[in-house]
Amino acid sequence: MSLDMAQSILEPFLLKPEGRLDITFMGGETLLAFGVIKPLVEWIKAGSWNRHYRIFGSTNGTLLTPAIKEWLELNKDTITLGLSYDGLPYSQMHNRGNDDIDLDFFIKTWPNQPIQMTINTESVDRMADGVIYLLEKGAQVHPNVAFEQDEWSDERINEYGSQLYKLALYFNSHPNLPPITQFIHNLNEYANSIDTKKPQYEICGAGNGFQVFDLDGQSYPCHILSPLVLEGDKLLRVKEGLVTQTEDFSDSDCDECPFALSCPTCIACNYLYRDCLQKRDKTHCKIMKTEVFAYIKKETMRLIDKEVLTSEEATRVDSIRKIVEFINYEI
Ligand code: SF4
Ligand code: SF4
Repeated sequence: MSLDMAQSILEPFLLKPEGRLDITFMGGETLLAFGVIKPLVEWIKAGSWNRHYRIFGSTNGTLLTPAIKEWLELNKDTITLGLSYDGLPYSQMHNRGNDDIDLDFFIKTWPNQPIQMTINTESVDRMADGVIYLLEKGAQVHPNVAFEQDEWSDERINEYGSQLYKLALYFNSHPNLPPITQFIHNLNEYANSIDTKKPQYEICGAGNGFQVFDLDGQSYPCHILSPLVLEGDKLLRVKEGLVTQTEDFSDSDCDECPFALSCPTCIACNYLYRDCLQKRDKTHCKIMKTEVFAYIKKETMRLIDKEVLTSEEATRVDSIRKIVEFINYEI
């Protein structure tokens, strides 16, 4: 995208007197466009706008040069780069063919920005070691299972559960480390949601607050729901307002599920792979239940060692009992 086009897209958003604007660079690799990003960020920084903003880009870290690092260091409060790195150097080499990444630069420059680890069927065996490796380097970590067309086998899902169990033991013996999202669950909310139908929201905001702009300035609900990925009839339906005119994003298979409020879905992948914005994939269904079960194990191991429970912990134990009954019945 040209600098002029990027400025003409952003200017009206920055001038709107509304809440914070999140600006995210996407590609491909963010730093391939450093020649545009640098003057754009400096233009935003020098401007007088009517709202706060944050600027973010994800990167694989391969294109950093001393000059780019120096500029990023100077502008680290204006722009954050999130590093995608696959845990162990071995996994990084295996998945991306390049381990020559300055991890310490990212950890030191943006200590609160988690490093993104993508977990797939090939890398899941090394997930726990990868998370621990990054945590021990001082990073925060966000491991996430990619939304793919092919379903994971039960054996791979079980391996994911084993990796989470290893991490549960690790986090319980290192309680001050920042938790991974797999271990952030509101068990009381889940327990209270059993037998109650909960709404299913479109959490990411694609097309409803979140927009992606193509090189020509045309807006789309997100990068997957755009000509980058879609074509033909599928793209046409998006252009005609499929996402913006949809109000109900719920999957009827999830009506009775107590985890629905927190269970992530990608409406774009649902549409791409199953031709329906609402139709969730079975892999993530099993992944979500595996994560809740792993978190319950972690919390049980932690609480069982305590001689006295606080009232909050006692409520949590009741919630765990209720969810375990439900999980045993469901899985
Ligand atoms: S629909 Fe999927 S790919 Fe698009 S923004 Fe949401 S989570 Fe991301
Ligand atoms: S865990 Fe499964 S059933 Fe529950 S909300 Fe997620 S996809 Fe639906």
